Amino acid sequence: MAEVQCVKCGKAGEPITEPLFMGRMESEIKANVCKTCWFEWNGPGKMKTMVINEYQINLGDESGRELLKKQMRAFLKLGEAVDTSKLQQSYRPQQ
Ligand SMILES: [Zn+2]
Repeated sequence: MAEVQCVKCGKAGEPITEPLFMGRMESEIKANVCKTCWFEWNGPGKMKTMVINEYQINLGDESGRELLKKQMRAFLKLGEAVDTSKLQQSYRPQQ
């Protein structure tokens, strides 16, 4: 199985295989974040839960979901929402 060069931990790691239900961001996350780092965000009682509690985010609310998304991008070091599809075509991570 191909490894993913993770922007969060900076290492080549196990890719995320399960569906994330993240819409347009799903492929970006899977292309840039390893399974371990995703778990650090999404796992039970992990960072996402802490962020939701800390900011008292209402996920039924559009602005709440936006805030959570921003926090997630910052945590995973995904930076700003940019189209990276061109970049990924020519980019070859070091093995
Ligand atoms: Zn990682």
